[in-house]
Amino acid sequence: MQIRLVQGDITEQHVDAVVNAANSSLLGGGGVDGAIHRKGGPDILRECRALRASSLRDGLPTGQAVATTAGRLPASWVIHTVGPVYSAGEERSPLLASCYRESLRLAAELAAETIAFPAVSAGAYGWPLSDAARVAVQAVQESSITLSEVRFVLFDGPTHAAFARAVTEHG
Ligand code: ADP
Repeated sequence: MQIRLVQGDITEQHVDAVVNAANSSLLGGGGVDGAIHRKGGPDILRECRALRASSLRDGLPTGQAVATTAGRLPASWVIHTVGPVYSAGEERSPLLASCYRESLRLAAELAAETIAFPAVSAGAYGWPLSDAARVAVQAVQESSITLSEVRFVLFDGPTHAAFARAVTEHG
């Protein structure tokens, strides 16, 4: 499986599936979530609302993933996953690893060959960059799912540098 690092905007990626760092409400938020809904248009939120009214009445649990249309984005699907909020006192990296693993599993179910991930939990959810990057890279490498390309799309220089270090050290 090819792992690629790109510095840029995930909403502009031509991949089969784009992963959203959502919150459990699935009803939108800031950061990458806001950008995906803004650029992808209202069809994404419509499908999220339908999920909340049926299979996900209590919201999407942390570490799990669910797919919707990608609306007007160049991708075919948005895979929404909920990262854990960082805690210095509690080891939550298994939940963060689960976001990557469950998203890959769902992508394979959808027959996606290419997927783009943001740095889940590394924004508003406060995860230290180097640790978020290490968990992400290891989770993808240890997954039994193989797609043709996993692209990490990092919004800024420091996040991109942290992922580059993680690939060098753990790749
Ligand atoms: P979380 O709540 O999981 O921390 P955020 O959206 O706040 O999610 O941040 C996750 C990461 O996504 C951060 O590194 C942030 O800089 C980045 N990000 C924000 N907008 C975009 C975008 N359009 N494309 C890619 N990454 C983005």
